[in-house]
Amino acid sequence: MSDTLPLPSAEAPPVVGVLALQGDVREHLIALAAADAVARPIRRPEELAEVDGLVIPGGESTTISKLAALFGLMEPLRERVRAGMPVYGTCAGLIMLAEKILDPRSGQETIGGIDMIVRRNAFGRQNESFESAVAVKGVEGDPVEGVFIRAPWVESVGAAAEVLAEHGGHIVAVRQGNALATSFHPELTGDHRVHALFVDMVRAAQ
Ligand code: GLN
Repeated sequence: MSDTLPLPSAEAPPVVGVLALQGDVREHLIALAAADAVARPIRRPEELAEVDGLVIPGGESTTISKLAALFGLMEPLRERVRAGMPVYGTCAGLIMLAEKILDPRSGQETIGGIDMIVRRNAFGRQNESFESAVAVKGVEGDPVEGVFIRAPWVESVGAAAEVLAEHGGHIVAVRQGNALATSFHPELTGDHRVHALFVDMVRAAQ
């Protein structure tokens, strides 16, 4: 046996997709690469099948929901999330991971994965968007800068879901098993610690 063998493939960087139907895809690709993942945009079921984890970006949850159905991605997404693929949703992505939306638009569907009820646009309209420091369980050091843009909040969570952060008395970050969700947008701040937490979840699941 030689001790100069190449590293085992288990140490190869995880491949993390970003659902690229609508929303701030590019910012997530950059944040994931900074967190040492191989990042790829995902638009087709065949591409989804090849990733170790998936980010669902911010944007407009009604549009993402409709496009996911149109692209034949809704069922494959549900299946992979059910099977334990690590998934991280920001803002509209958080809404996509909820089992229930309080005020859905007609025909709006979710993937599910986190036993939580969410309220869309709960923090107000576009011109009421704001930034605030948010302490997130599992992210060491200073609080992260939370960017809230027409952000949802989580009204309630089931027993299996863990609340990771609150803002103004409302739940804004949740984890359940391999699913992570934040109301705010860490991909817009240049601070990649939340993405690093997610990439660690992907590595742990491999
Ligand atoms: N309000 C949007 C929605 O309901 C989410 C906004 C965002 O992702 N920044 O989908």
